[in-house]
Parts: sequence; C-alpha cells; structure tokens
Amino acid sequence: MGNILFISDRLEKIQQYTNIFNRKPYNFTVVSDENVILETAELNSPDVIILDYKFNNIKKNIKNLKSIYNSTAFVLLTPSQGLEQDLTKYINAFITEDLSEDLVLSTINVNLRTKQSLEQLSATNKNLADSLYRLNVLYSTSSQFAGSLDKEKLVDYMIEGLDKSLSFDLTCTLAFCTDTEPVLILNSLYELSEELVSAIKLRTILNYKSLFENKTPPFEIDIEKLKVIKTVKYPANRFTFNLFQYDNMFAPISLGDNFFGCIEIFKETPFTSDDATCFQTIAQQVSLPLKSATLYQEIMETNLKLEKLERLKSEFISIVSHELRTPLTAIKNSLDILSSGRCGDLNEAGNKFLAMAQRNVQRLSGIINDLLDLSKIEAGKMDYHFTNMNIHSVIEYVKFALSGVAREKGLNLIAEETANLPEIYADSQRLEQVLTNLVSNAIKFTPEGKNIIIRSHIARAEQLKAPDCFKDDIKKLNGEYIVVCVEDEGIGIAEKDLLRAFDKFAQIENSLSRKIGGSGLGLPIAKQLLEAHNGTIWCDSELNKGSRFYFAIPVSKVPSKMEVSVN
Ligand code: ADP
Repeated sequence: MGNILFISDRLEKIQQYTNIFNRKPYNFTVVSDENVILETAELNSPDVIILDYKFNNIKKNIKNLKSIYNSTAFVLLTPSQGLEQDLTKYINAFITEDLSEDLVLSTINVNLRTKQSLEQLSATNKNLADSLYRLNVLYSTSSQFAGSLDKEKLVDYMIEGLDKSLSFDLTCTLAFCTDTEPVLILNSLYELSEELVSAIKLRTILNYKSLFENKTPPFEIDIEKLKVIKTVKYPANRFTFNLFQYDNMFAPISLGDNFFGCIEIFKETPFTSDDATCFQTIAQQVSLPLKSATLYQEIMETNLKLEKLERLKSEFISIVSHELRTPLTAIKNSLDILSSGRCGDLNEAGNKFLAMAQRNVQRLSGIINDLLDLSKIEAGKMDYHFTNMNIHSVIEYVKFALSGVAREKGLNLIAEETANLPEIYADSQRLEQVLTNLVSNAIKFTPEGKNIIIRSHIARAEQLKAPDCFKDDIKKLNGEYIVVCVEDEGIGIAEKDLLRAFDKFAQIENSLSRKIGGSGLGLPIAKQLLEAHNGTIWCDSELNKGSRFYFAIPVSKVPSKMEVSVN
C-alpha cells in the first residue's frame, strides 16, 4: 500500500512500530542515524515519514526532508501530552506515544490514502495541462496554416508544431514543394554525421516507396540528387546512440487527394498514444492549406501568363495600328487629290465611289486612333495636360464641332446653360474626346427629328443617382463633382446591357448598332480617361425611349493659375 520511513533512535519505539508495519502492504524502513536520513529516504521514496519527537535536531531534519519531499505526508510521534507547537506547521498529522496500535494504523492509512489521492490528482492535472498545451499548439499551428499560401512555409509550420507538442529528436520530411524536385528536410536536435544523413536518405526513399506498395510511385527519386535541408538545434553535440533504435512514427502528407510527401519523426523516449494522435492530426491538418497553396500557385501562374498575353496583345495592337496609319494617310491624301479635281473630273459614278472611299477611310482612321489610344492608356503611356478649367469650354467646343453632323441627320443638338460652375482640374482635350464620343453616339443612335441635350450641374457624391450596376463606381466618389449628361431620344439600351456597353469591343445586340458599326472602344476609352481624372462614367437608359450618359469630374482643389503636366 505504501512506503513508510520511520526516523527514531529509541529502540522500544523502533520495535513497537516495526511490529505494526513490518508486513504487507507496507514497505517499512527505519533510520536511526541522522547522517543517512536523506540517503535512506532517496532509496525508499517514502509516502509517509514518521518522525520521533525525541530524535536529534528534529526540526532541522523535518525542514530538510520537507524541502525535498514536499508531497510526502509527515507524521510526528509526540508525547502523550504537550505537543511541541513549533513543529505543527511542518506536519500533516501526529500520533501520541500512548495511542493504540489500531489508531496508529488508521492514522497512517488515512495519510497514505491522502498522499495517493493527491498523487492521482496531480497526475490528472498534469495530463489535463498537457492536453491543454497540445490543444493550444494545434490551434496556433492551424492558425499559422490558415495564414499562409507558401508550401515551404506550411511545411516549416508543421514541423514547428510537432516540435512544440512532441519535442522530437529528429524529423525527416520528404516534400514535393515543386512538381518534380523533392527535398528532404531534416530538423534535428544534434548534429548528424554524413553517414547518418546518407542512411536517412535511403530510409526515407524506402518509406516513400512503401507508401505505394506494388504500384510505381508518382516520382522517381535519385538518392544522389536528393536535396537535403538540415536544421540543427544544438550543433555542438552529436547523436551518440543509433537513431534508428529510437521510437519513431511515420505518416504520409497529402495534398487534397494527391501525394505531397511523408514525414518520419524520432524520439529517444517512447511516444504515447496521445503523441500519435497529435502527430497524425498535424500531418493531416496541413493537407488542406497545401492544396490551397497549390491552387494559389496555379492561379498566380495563370495570371502571369494572362498578363503577358495582355501585354503582347497591347503591343500587337500598337504596332499594327502604327503600321496601318502610314498607308492609310497615303490613301487619304490620294483620295483628297482625286476629289480636288487636280487629276481631272470624275463622272457621277466615280464621284460616288470616291465619296464612299473617303467615308470608309475616315471610319478606319477613327478605329485606328481608338486602338492607339486604348493601347497607350493600358500601357500607362497616355499624356495628360491637367489645368484648372471650366467645363463650359468643353461643352461649347463639342457643340460647335458636332452641330453640323447633327443638323445633317435632322437632329437638334442643344447645350443647356448652367451659370457659374466651379472649375475642374482636368485635361480639356481628353474631356473633349469623351464628350465628342458621347454626343457622336447619341447622334448615331437617335432617329431623325429628335433632340440631343447636353446638361451640366454640380452635385455632391452622395446625391448622384445611377442604376444598380454602376453603384460600386459611384460609391468610390467623395466630395463635389461637376456632372455632365448627354441625353438622347434614341434606340436606348436594355438594362442587362448597360454595363456591357463599357466593355472593350462591345456592341450591343441590335440591328442599328450592327449596321452603323464602330470600334466598340469609345466608351471604354472614355471610362479610362475619366478614371485618370478621379471621375467616373455611367448611363441610364430605356429601350426604344432614349439614353442618358453621365460623367462626373471632381471640383478642382488645386489653386488656379497652376498648370501641371502628367505623363
Ligand atoms: P462604338 O464606337 O461602337 O459606338 P462605344 O464604346 O462608343 O463604341 O459604344 C459601345 C456600344 O454601346 C455601341 O455600339 C452601342 O451598341 C451602345 N451605345 C453607346 N451609346 C449609345 C446610345 N447613345 N444609344 C444607344 N446605344 C448606345
């Protein structure tokens, strides 16, 4: 039942207590020499120490023992009367000299049981603390996993988590962080000799092959070429025992449904079943983030390819447009000479064909200019000349430039007056380009006899109203804006097509826009030009009733008289 150490040098007491306890289930040891108390206690690991109050230096001896055996029960054998008060604080119980054998036995038994219960409690507490610590490690490891999309880092976190929860002597992780090149990551407590590293390499490859039983493993590993990354905690020491006789655990690491690698872990002392659960959990937990990391890597690679393609496309457009511009100018000049009559008069049919050729050359040069503009904007090479300016001048210019075209088509182009609009900080030429495009579209898509109205006003960002599909663009605005609106009574755009009108090369499905043709680049160019002004563009339309295209430019905050050029 328990170990009892009896400290006394009185023969009759030794005799008496030996008679009581010298039988099972007790393991009774007597010590009478003060000099060997500690030595005897160490051999005996006492659950209860009974001290005779008559023993030499009793207080000092209790104190010494107590400092080492603080969970042992101390019982003092005291005189029938007159317990020395000074000693009571060091002892758990006392027995008087005249106590009957039964009472002595029961007092000691109670103390033995208490001591054993305390021991069980503290073992349970320790297990609980261990489990809590492991849970914490698992939690922090999984948070680290969740925060990373880098496969090498994920493997590091896994090993770090294992080190904290299992304190291993060595881990050998075979990882396929890239598609073809495996790497063997060794994390070791002490230095590993070259022979040991070679042995570990071989062992890991065999482990790897064993995972696929009779099937061929997905990758062939060349032992000579296998790259080793070694981290040693205490490089001044070397392993003295045969590592392979240490306790070990092994687990594959998967990448979703695919193979990623495997890990073997060694420890000098045996692993418990809790260790095994913890090991399996961490090795499994890393699987999902590894899969995300792979997907992320694939997305990044695809993005890079797409970016490259986009760049190539822009370059291609830019080169082709430049190449087309030269012969087109030559054609245009030749047509102009023909129409000037310098080469003689043409007959009626000839004039008709000439006019048709001139119209198409103009259309083609418009398309080429749009292509060049877009490629410049996308390459960030568009020149802007920002100044403090008034939107009225832009509206006046466009009205003047397009009134003739509108009149020819039987349309009424009106610019409504708005008095005293504050200045904006903008590139007037680019804004003229934007407004020209909007009014040209209005002219293109509005039947004869109708009105096209250009309006302008000032509004705060939160007052701006747009269909839901433009809400995100409007939300980005902040402060005061000059808003310009081009309203027509034309064919309109269906709600589902509103956003698409701003896509590159978009032509909304309707007979008119097909017939009229165009580059489909005017609106995307306008959008990008306005974004360069910290503004935006949107439209509101109803099929067969008409459209309202709006754009907003922030009211100038730069002091007037200051002109800035931005390349
Ligand atoms: P395009 O040069 O082809 O006109 P845009 O980018 O300027 O290119 O316009 C894209 C498409 O949006 C047009 O082809 C047309 O289908 C539609 N669209 C633009 N403005 C209007 C409008 N005022 N009324 C009706 N549809 C329009």
